[in-house]
Amino acid sequence: MSSPNWIAKANDLNLRVRNFVDGHYIDEKPDTQRINKRSPRDGSLLYSFSEGSSNDVDLAVANAKAAFDDGRWRSMPLSQRQAILHKLADLVENHKDELALYDSLDVGKPISNAINIDIAAATGYLRNNTDLADKLLAPSSADGGNFSFQLRKPIGVVGGVIGWNFPLSMACTKVAPALVMGNSLVLKPSEFTPLSAGRLAELAIEAGVPPGVFNVVHGAGVIVGAALADHRDVDMLTFTGSSATGKKVMISAGQSNMKRVVLECGGKSPYLVFDDCVEDLDFMITDIVETSFANQGAVCSSSTRLLIHESMVDKVLPRVIAETKKLIPQDPLNPDTGFGAIINEAHLNKVLAYIESGKKEGATLITGGERVKVSTSDGSTQGYYLNPAIFTDVNPQQKIAQEEIFGPVLSVLTFKTEEEAIALANNSCFGLAAYAATTDQGRALRLAQNLNAGLVVIVSTPTPSAGGFADLGCEPHRESGLGAEGGVAGLTAYTVSSSVHMLA
Ligand code: NAD
Repeated sequence: MSSPNWIAKANDLNLRVRNFVDGHYIDEKPDTQRINKRSPRDGSLLYSFSEGSSNDVDLAVANAKAAFDDGRWRSMPLSQRQAILHKLADLVENHKDELALYDSLDVGKPISNAINIDIAAATGYLRNNTDLADKLLAPSSADGGNFSFQLRKPIGVVGGVIGWNFPLSMACTKVAPALVMGNSLVLKPSEFTPLSAGRLAELAIEAGVPPGVFNVVHGAGVIVGAALADHRDVDMLTFTGSSATGKKVMISAGQSNMKRVVLECGGKSPYLVFDDCVEDLDFMITDIVETSFANQGAVCSSSTRLLIHESMVDKVLPRVIAETKKLIPQDPLNPDTGFGAIINEAHLNKVLAYIESGKKEGATLITGGERVKVSTSDGSTQGYYLNPAIFTDVNPQQKIAQEEIFGPVLSVLTFKTEEEAIALANNSCFGLAAYAATTDQGRALRLAQNLNAGLVVIVSTPTPSAGGFADLGCEPHRESGLGAEGGVAGLTAYTVSSSVHMLA
């Protein structure tokens, strides 16, 4: 089957960004500041939209509160809410070309990844959370005639503030748990990637979510995001973004109404290769390169520090370099592209500055790290493209080993013993994910116990099964965030409980 002509499809789209409140789009106000969005793939002006204000947030929150208070959604039987959210997942699948195009155009991510990975993730979040909801059964007990039980209730109005790297699927990590538990939501997408969220809210109405339950307000973080975090009628703020912004959200929550917060923030995750890793290195090498450079390195859980046992360096590093060199930046709308563009010029320059700092602080750049010109099929060479970079001779204290770059830059370090490997891995203010290749099951368990990471992945076979992971959720450690996302714990965060004792 021939692949669609994505450029023609993109040209057919009407790219408009407007707030979505109480079940419909709100016309943009004239004479407001506008945010210009440039295309990562060719640098052209893609669209512009009106900068949101705290008044827009007030309007959306008031509608979400009214929808919560009158019970139009939370009082619906859970089975009905579940059916509606399943329908929303089906609608996302039915509109996958359009939604994937929005994310590819906004982020610069390869269209094939947006279709094959992001849509599956988005529908997975919608369906998994929805199916888990009826498992949150309240415990109850009878004691000497008295009857006690715990009532689990929606919190109220949830504010959702999200980053730019997986616009649609990240929106679904907030929409699904907030809505299935009966809350109302005001979602603020990243100002860099607003396209798919509005369409998702529109599809939610088509699926049967009542107006006012799922609202979207666009604009800058310091204005719209901050107004949501400060709002006294927002009962919970669920955030995905950088640790620096997460800390500001905590302050706002504390200084306003002590709203509940869930913070999913940055990372600097290690990938440890031990001398007892599998002999056939093929899968592990592919896994290292994918985990480090997927989505152009803009993944919170990317393995950006490769820690190799010194006896394995000569076997592993040349192969990692060779595989990385195969990642050639190309037009994201080419269906064969595996490595796309960087979201915008400012971010590209930030990543390049980290690469310069790496060199200045004494590390050796062994491949990549330069801005490259890519010709799109319409002849432009103005997009934002970068060859993935690998550094060796990295000092564990230098910036490229410590700070989150959120781009395709991998730092390689070496170790001699398991203790040294764990100390190096934990030498970070972050604690999101950790990956380790070892066939020693005892070591695997010690690593799981001692690594500061909410997600630990052990590679212990040359041919892992194609099955996915159980949805256990993930609770970031240290400055990677606060509270779990996903799984039963993640769903529980979108509820409050009342312990009820009926005296008999
Ligand atoms: P960011 O912190 O700059 O922005 C995230 C969101 O917060 C945006 O919508 C932004 O407009 C808003 N914002 C900015 N300032 C604000 C303020 N003062 N108050 C309230 N909201 C504000 O992050 P980003 O660059 O968009 O995203 C990249 C970051 O997200 C990386 O650190 C990455 O690791 C992290 N991330 C984490 C996860 C996870 O699950 N842990 C997943 C994806 C991305």
